[in-house]
Amino acid sequence: MTRRRISIFGATGSIGQNTIDLIKRDLEAYHTVALTGAHNIPQLAHDAIKLRAEVAVTADTDRLQDLRDALSGSGIEAAAGESGLEEAASRSADWVMSAIVGAAGLKPGLRALESGANLALANKESLVCAGELIRATAKKHDALLIPVDSEHSAVFQALVGEDMTSVERIIITGSGGAFRDWPIGDLPFATPEQAATHPNWAMGQRITIDSATMFNKALELIETKEYFGVEDEKIEVIIHPESIIHALVGFVDGALMAHVGPPDMRHAIGYALHWPERRNLPVERLDLAQVAQFNFYEPDLTRYPPLRLARDVIRSGGLTGAVFNAAKESALDAFIDKKIGFMDMAAVVEDVLSISETRGNLLDEEMTLESVMNADAEARIAARQVITQRYG
Ligand code: NDP
Ligand code: MG
Repeated sequence: MTRRRISIFGATGSIGQNTIDLIKRDLEAYHTVALTGAHNIPQLAHDAIKLRAEVAVTADTDRLQDLRDALSGSGIEAAAGESGLEEAASRSADWVMSAIVGAAGLKPGLRALESGANLALANKESLVCAGELIRATAKKHDALLIPVDSEHSAVFQALVGEDMTSVERIIITGSGGAFRDWPIGDLPFATPEQAATHPNWAMGQRITIDSATMFNKALELIETKEYFGVEDEKIEVIIHPESIIHALVGFVDGALMAHVGPPDMRHAIGYALHWPERRNLPVERLDLAQVAQFNFYEPDLTRYPPLRLARDVIRSGGLTGAVFNAAKESALDAFIDKKIGFMDMAAVVEDVLSISETRGNLLDEEMTLESVMNADAEARIAARQVITQRYG
């Protein structure tokens, strides 16, 4: 049997580690081309040796020597920085997991598609920043995009055998995050530590805080539009505190197909890894009597302003997604550094979007990697200015 050639970008993170957990269960089936990380060199080296990778890459050039030391005698190549990531992404692979956090995942993802690999996309930021470019690149190189975000994997699964013309609406669920039951007046005082605790899912720090603000769901609204080509008014967001139903697709005959499963990312990762087949996965089998009930309610847009902003972004289109994501990343950094409060994150992003709107050229420009990176860089500068002016 020929081994499948795979690479994992963001191998040391939460999605990366869950992916490695699945790969390790059937090591003989895979040839690992590249594993990448940034700061966690011991984990990166450990997994590169265990999976016998061709190359391990750290995004942080200052840590290249540490990586070399950790890999010494193993015969595994070590590389670093943006060029190292891009070179690794250009190596021939059948399947690549894109699980770097943030817009930093865009370039390696594009390179992987250009080399013809099927791309399992956890890095939702790439689709938000550059959906059109990602889709065009995949098409040009006959590569496939497979969603890994649980809601989008759920929709993807509910659409098997269906015609998009019969889809009336797509409903994605969200837990409501760490503060869903807090009085709204307490939210400005929420700390990064409190925001980084998710009621149901174990994920990286940044996406967990994004779940508390619902910036994560805002990104996912845009991601839904990009994956499935449906307009904003056909996408609904509903709060579902149990995180058991991940998404539902509504059809023209009134039927709703729901995807039901435990909150364990290994399901969506495993589905993407084995697609179009289904294989046995080490996830909990739900006992519905134990789950007992599913609750749903409408999100309150005063509590979750990013949901409103995301709909504006979809309507504006073009490079607005890149501006939105970069402003969000900057605001999140400032919140983690305790420079701004929890509710200030949405206010900063809204200000940056208004500043960008006045610069029509940015939003009307053609979408290329360069124009996306420019929009991203300008939005980060604007966000820093807004933060300094407003919060000192
Ligand atoms: P983590 O923060 O746990 O991991 C991020 C990974 O990216 C790590 O390998 C990290 O390396 C690496 N990294 C960090 N900064 C950079 C950089 N500048 N350049 C290159 N690599 C970098 O994130 P998650 O695994 O939670 O999320 C990864 C992606 O998947 C995100 O886009 C997220 O939105 C998405 N996602 C995550 C879900 C989850 O359950 N966690 C669910 C759905 C989507 P190191 O740790 O070595 O510093
Ligand atoms: Mg999700």
